Amino acid sequence: METTLVRTWAEIDFDALAHNYHALRKQMGPHARFLGVVKADAYGHGSVETARTLAELGAEYLAISNVDEARELRLAGIELPILQLGLTPADQIQVILDNRVTQNVWSEEAAQAFSDAAVKAGGRMKTHIKLDTGMSRLGFQCDEAHFDASLEALTRVCALPGLDIEGVFTHFAVSDEASDASREYTLLQHDRFTAMIDRLKERGITFQICHCANSGATAGYPQFAHDMFRPGIIMYGIGDQAPALGLRPMMTLKTVIGVVKEYTEGTTISYGRTFRADRPSRVGVLPIGYADGLHRMLSNKWRVWTPYGMAPLIGRVCMDMCMIDLTDLPEVKAGDAVEVYGPHNSVNDAAKLAETISYELTCAVSKRVPRIYYKNGREISRELLLRG
Ligand SMILES: *Cc1c(COP(=O)(O)O)cnc(C)c1O
Repeated sequence: METTLVRTWAEIDFDALAHNYHALRKQMGPHARFLGVVKADAYGHGSVETARTLAELGAEYLAISNVDEARELRLAGIELPILQLGLTPADQIQVILDNRVTQNVWSEEAAQAFSDAAVKAGGRMKTHIKLDTGMSRLGFQCDEAHFDASLEALTRVCALPGLDIEGVFTHFAVSDEASDASREYTLLQHDRFTAMIDRLKERGITFQICHCANSGATAGYPQFAHDMFRPGIIMYGIGDQAPALGLRPMMTLKTVIGVVKEYTEGTTISYGRTFRADRPSRVGVLPIGYADGLHRMLSNKWRVWTPYGMAPLIGRVCMDMCMIDLTDLPEVKAGDAVEVYGPHNSVNDAAKLAETISYELTCAVSKRVPRIYYKNGREISRELLLRG
């Protein structure tokens, strides 16, 4: 559906993406390919437009987490290779082949099922092998107890006729954490990763693309670049490590003050009456609520940015609206736009107050919120994800 209404919207700045892309490329050196992680609608930023911009910038690979997300990119004409990081049942082989998806293979059973299905379909499935070095999610286990069995399994997997194995990768659990214990664990994970690759090499099995660096490792361990790196959150310019790298947030979530009202001292605001005015108050009503992605945990905790200062959220966040205190900001009036998250009002800070991570807050910006895309400082397109 096309949007006519712009009352609550997300501005997506592809100039910020270009800035972040070049900064991260510089960080990881000239030889590593850039894989942009655009799963979950590019963490809420719009996967098609983000993928298109990454392709223009020169990224070599994309990743998603569900084959429908790959289909969405192919239907939009995106041609870059796409790595499927998540689980796919082998009965989806035709979708994988038709959409030229590089499917990760996480176990010998899965590898066998995919290979059989691909042979039956008359094709070969492009594959990256997933190693579990300590995340304990998907992959061939590479800890001491499982290493030798996994080495044998991988040797068999690499001989399967239906797989066209291009790469091998692993994923870190605490690469974004600075404590000594976390650094030690990340180095252990990396040692397990390279040990398995080395042992396979002794058997004549090599990979064109070895990769392990997510955002945390990209920021903290550039020596782990290998043949490719896989930034997600920092590419969008957010997460705790983005500021130190000089990265810029791509998303600015904005809304417009709908009405301003005056209340006497003692008036309570919103459901549950959790906020009570302790003075005569000016209160703005905003057309944004938890159904737009403004987490209800931010009730009485967050603030919006106005050109005259921050206005605190008061009372509970409702489904479609919330209230702000404008008593100390007499210049602010109905019709003014305010920033809910963005360069003046970091989603990283909101995430801490909501006891979550910035990933969850940008992913939560809902289908009701139009995305307005900017490139070279100008609006290039807009998108609303409601059914037409
Ligand atoms: C989501 C994901 C990434 C990107 O993670 P960030 O922390 O956003 O950089 C990289 N690799 C895998 C396997 C993932 O699932």
